[in-house]
Amino acid sequence: MPTNPDTLDRLALRGLADSARWFPELHDRGQIGLVVHFALGLAGEVGELIEVAESPGRVIDGELGAELADVTIYALDLVAALDRTPSILYDAQALNGEGTWTSLVVAVGQVLNLVKKLNRGDNAPELGAKLDHWLGLMLAEIVAVADLFRLDVVAEIIRKREVLNGRWGACEHVSLEGEEHRGELLWRCQVCFDLVREHRDTAGYLTYELVAEDL
Ligand SMILES: [Mg+2]
Ligand SMILES: [Zn+2]
Repeated sequence: MPTNPDTLDRLALRGLADSARWFPELHDRGQIGLVVHFALGLAGEVGELIEVAESPGRVIDGELGAELADVTIYALDLVAALDRTPSILYDAQALNGEGTWTSLVVAVGQVLNLVKKLNRGDNAPELGAKLDHWLGLMLAEIVAVADLFRLDVVAEIIRKREVLNGRWGACEHVSLEGEEHRGELLWRCQVCFDLVREHRDTAGYLTYELVAEDL
């Protein structure tokens, strides 16, 4: 899994925007409601990941990469919903990731415990440093597991996003800003952060084609 600092941050921004588009009612619950939603999703996906990891026959089916992608999506959503920057937290803990299932589960468990405390109203500033530590370690463990098992989590996330766009609705890119990309003038959607190229179809309607970026 590439650890280009932009990668985690861009995935988090996109993930949060996708979630807001697909589940607007969840995003109306306020910050702690949204944080609890992502925390619950993270807990469920870690359960699925470990179930696959402990069934050796299924690992070769590629399910491991798909489940680690699910964990990564919720982990990044959670970090973004907590108003934190994934790359900063990751960089602080990158060398501490062990890449074992146990270390990943421990980091996620500690994050969930802190979210539990936030949700019941414990002092947020006092929890802040601990939260930064464990969120960073959680991201470091995800990247370490991906590297150890050679799982292309970013490609999995992009693939899943296409499937979910088909199920719940793709962004219509109604708010675009021009952006130069490799010498070509393209458009950056201010809602979903996709980079798109404009086309006019035979009936004269504008359509947008997703431009692949180096994430
Ligand atoms: Mg899953
Ligand atoms: Zn868009």
